[in-house]
Amino acid sequence: MWRFSNGFFLQPRPVRLYPFNAAAHILGYINEVDTSIINRSNGFYESGDYAGRTGLEQYYERVLRGQKGSELWIKDNFNRLVGHYQNGIFDTAAVAGRNLRTYLDVELQQLAEKLLANKVGAIVAIEPKTGGILAMASAPDYNPNDLTGSSKQKNYSKMLLDVSTPLYNRATKGQYPAGSTYKPLGALIGLDEGVITPSSGYPCHGAYLECTRPVKCLEKWAGHAANLRLAVAHSCNSFFSSTIRRTIDNPKYHNPRIGLTKWKEYCTAFGYGHKLGVDIPNENGGNIPDTTAYDKEYRGQWNSCTMTGGGLGIGQDKMLVTPLQITNGICIVANKGYYYLPHFVRSIDDENDDDTALVNKFRKRHNVLTHISDTAYETVISGMQDVTEIGTAKAITKIPGINVCAKTGTAQNKRVLDKKVVELKDHSLFVCFAPREDPKVAISVIIENGGFGATWAGPMAYLLLEKYLTDSLRADRQKEADRIAAANLMPSYLTREQFKADSIRAYEWFKMTKDSSYIDKYTYQNAEVPFLPREQSPLPAKKGPAIQYMVIIDDKNLRKKNHSVPS
Ligand SMILES: [Zn+2]
Repeated sequence: MWRFSNGFFLQPRPVRLYPFNAAAHILGYINEVDTSIINRSNGFYESGDYAGRTGLEQYYERVLRGQKGSELWIKDNFNRLVGHYQNGIFDTAAVAGRNLRTYLDVELQQLAEKLLANKVGAIVAIEPKTGGILAMASAPDYNPNDLTGSSKQKNYSKMLLDVSTPLYNRATKGQYPAGSTYKPLGALIGLDEGVITPSSGYPCHGAYLECTRPVKCLEKWAGHAANLRLAVAHSCNSFFSSTIRRTIDNPKYHNPRIGLTKWKEYCTAFGYGHKLGVDIPNENGGNIPDTTAYDKEYRGQWNSCTMTGGGLGIGQDKMLVTPLQITNGICIVANKGYYYLPHFVRSIDDENDDDTALVNKFRKRHNVLTHISDTAYETVISGMQDVTEIGTAKAITKIPGINVCAKTGTAQNKRVLDKKVVELKDHSLFVCFAPREDPKVAISVIIENGGFGATWAGPMAYLLLEKYLTDSLRADRQKEADRIAAANLMPSYLTREQFKADSIRAYEWFKMTKDSSYIDKYTYQNAEVPFLPREQSPLPAKKGPAIQYMVIIDDKNLRKKNHSVPS
């Protein structure tokens, strides 16, 4: 090729092909390096090189990129290349990148992505005994092949402007109230602190009324929380509100500040409130409140009722967790006290010392809560099995011969829309592990705006369990998977938010260029999506040639100028 150097030159580029069209958030993508990457690379990268920018591509870039080769050439006095210097004895050959072997089960991954179609949410499946991540899906997502090849930039720009954020990995970054999925942990903490026993019950008649702010319970019938197992099975809010108060007011500490600090230590041991360190970049740590947080909000004037009334005992108030953390926490319950950091990569081909340093932390067993007694674990795990047999998940179709331990959850879902805090339909949560006797998989599912945990998240988790544990789906279960995949649960506010974002951008373009071609479709006359009913607009609708733009309530400039375009 060098002989044609007047007209052509070769430019090698790393290429990627994703035969399964899946796992976009896990794999990540490669892109041209920027100056900061070049500067940090000690001379490895130069302008025009490609490097992993998210996902496994970024975390394992050093393994995947291989080594560059080099050749020394001789030029003649006309600046023409004439041959290798000293017959190429100083040349080095390029070394291809090495393979990563992961725990991912591609069929499970594909099923998880299929079930999340037309929904906002996340699914994480982990093998409890190793911390190996078997599947991780976040929706909305994208086809990884969209970020390779010539349309890459166009597709990327489009995704950046999508308000449903397909590039955002909700499984590691989404922070949600744990809701009732926290209750098995709350029970274990209470048992280990000695403030409850397996036979402790609570006389709940539909609400916890011992603090100023009542905490409602969905069950009213007598005896639904007569002991710990029943309280877990029926997810009694009163029982768990009482339990967290007893934990904070533990008589052995004589001080709720110490009680709350102790409670937070347990949550931290369960992997909550801090980044876990999974082997893909960009993880969020969630939140577990401490005395500082409550001192700040209540000027030091708080007691155990303050957070109980806010729902801390039932996984709300200031408690936020990621789907990855929820799944890891349930692995600790399944393992009765230990975990391995969740990770994707099982091994690296031809592993060298540098690789070992990179992956060693995933091979270390963390015995964080092995001091909790076997009786405590067995009681809570029995309660979780009861959830699926007599409790909140009993209506979900079972897998013959497999004992599943689970917990349903719903979490309050508040959002700022049009500058107002609006309460939307609850998030639907479900965590589980199975088989009880020898846990092979732990799964969590969260569906935003999905309502009750047993409505959507539960049936989805059961399909994934069946697929993984039996390696297939029965014919009627396959139909159920198709039914769920076809259900559209996309929150309706997204359409409005997209319209608003697009129309504001169109207006900015109009301001800059006076080109009205983009903004025209956002006018009352042309809009496909009604933004606000016309009568609610701050400006009266005018008849005749004037057209008011629908961005009007969000853009001060536009309101002032009252732009109109003659028809
Ligand atoms: Zn109750």
